[in-house]
Amino acid sequence: MSRQFATLDDAGDVHGKVALVRVDLNMPMHDAVVTDLTRARAVAPTILELADAGAKVLLLAHFGRPKGERNSTMSTSLIQGAVADVLGREVMFIPEVAGPVVEQTIGIFRPGDIGLLENTRFWQGEEANDADFARAIAANGDLYVNDAFSAAHRAHASTEALAHMLPAYAGRAMQAELDALDKALGQPEPPVAAVVGGAKVSTKLAVLEHLVGRVQHLIIGGGMANTFLAARGVNVGKSLCEHDLTGQADAIMAAADRAGCTVHLPYDVVVATEFAANPPSLRTCNVHEVAADEMILDIGPRAVEALADVLKTCRTLVWNGPLGAFETQPFDTATVTLARTAAALSAEGSLVSVAGGGDTVAALNHAGVAGDFSYVSTAGGAFLEWMEGRELPGVAALAR
Ligand code: ADP
Ligand code: MG
Repeated sequence: MSRQFATLDDAGDVHGKVALVRVDLNMPMHDAVVTDLTRARAVAPTILELADAGAKVLLLAHFGRPKGERNSTMSTSLIQGAVADVLGREVMFIPEVAGPVVEQTIGIFRPGDIGLLENTRFWQGEEANDADFARAIAANGDLYVNDAFSAAHRAHASTEALAHMLPAYAGRAMQAELDALDKALGQPEPPVAAVVGGAKVSTKLAVLEHLVGRVQHLIIGGGMANTFLAARGVNVGKSLCEHDLTGQADAIMAAADRAGCTVHLPYDVVVATEFAANPPSLRTCNVHEVAADEMILDIGPRAVEALADVLKTCRTLVWNGPLGAFETQPFDTATVTLARTAAALSAEGSLVSVAGGGDTVAALNHAGVAGDFSYVSTAGGAFLEWMEGRELPGVAALAR
C-alpha cells in the first residue's frame, strides 16, 4: 500500500478554503484537566500547516462514548483550551458539526482561523456511517483531511463516508503512520522479525496468523508464550496459560514451518510461586524445570541474549506486547533489555523498528527507549487491526 493516498502535498492552494480535518483528540481528563496531550501534539503539525496556508480549519473529533446523544460531560468544548494551548492559536468552539451554525461561523472566519466542532458521536449518524449525516458535514467544507489513524479502524461518518464526498487527503500524522507501517510490514526490508508478547494468545491469534506468512522470525514472549510451551509438552506449572488454545498454537507453529518462519520460544524463564515485586521464591530456570507451584513471569537472560543475536541479523522489527509482566519488578528485565538492543540497532541505522500497543508503548517508555525506535504507534486498536492484516476503512477511503 505504498503511497496510494493523497497527502497535503497534493491539496494545492487551500487559501480561503474550508478544510474539514478529522483528528483524534480523545485525551484522558482528570478534574477537568487533560492529563496527556500526546494526541493534540500529534495532530498540531497538520492543523498549523493548513492554517498557515490560509485554510479555514474545522476540527472534527470524537470524545468518549456518548452513544448518539448530546452529553455535556463529553463535549469537545472541554478540550478546547488544551487544544488551543498546544497549537498556540485561538480555537473557536462550535457547538454543532453541520448546519447553519457552522455555515455562519465559517462566514465570519478569516483565512487561518481554527474551529473545533462538537463531538461527532453526539449524532447517531456518526457511528452508523450515515451518508446523509456525512453529506451535511461535507456541505460546509471544500476539502477533507484525515489525521486520525487511531480512529481509522472504525467505518464512521467522519472517518469513512465523508472521505468520499470531498477531495480527501491524509494529514501529516496519518501519512507518517502509514509510511512507518508500510516499512515495517507492507514492503519491509528482510529479514523481518516480529516480537509478539502480552498476556493472552486469544487476543493475538489473528496477529500471529497474519505474521507467520510475512516475517522470517516470530519471537513469542509474555504470558502467551506459555500456551505455546504447553503445546510443545512443557509443564508450565501455574503460569497464565490458555490450555484450550494449544491446538491453535500448534497450528500457528505448523503454518510458520511451512512459510519458512522461525518461531522463537524461550528456553529459560523467570519464575516465582507468587506474583509480587521481588518475591523470595524468585528464580531463573530452564523451561523444563518449572515446578507445579511456580509461574513464568518473564523470559530468561539466555533467551534474551539469543533474541538480541536474532535482531542483529534483521533489518526490520515490528513489536507488539511485552515479554514479561513488566509492571512488576524484576519481570520487566527481558522487555527492557531487548528493547534497548532494538533501540541501539535502530540508532545505528541497521534496523527499522516499529512498535505499538498500549502496554507496549508504556513498556518502551519505562525502558526509556521509545524515542530511539524508528516509529512508535499510539494508535491502539487500529495498530492491532493493521497487524492482523486487515484493511482499515478510514485508510481505504483515502485511497485514490
Ligand atoms: P499491548 O497493550 O501492548 O497490546 P497486551 O495488553 O497484549 O499488550 O499485554 C500486556 C500485558 O501482558 C501486561 O499487563 C503484562 O503484565 C502481561 N504479561 C506479560 N507477560 C506475562 C506473563 N508471563 N504472565 C502474566 N502476564 C503477563
Ligand atoms: Mg494492553
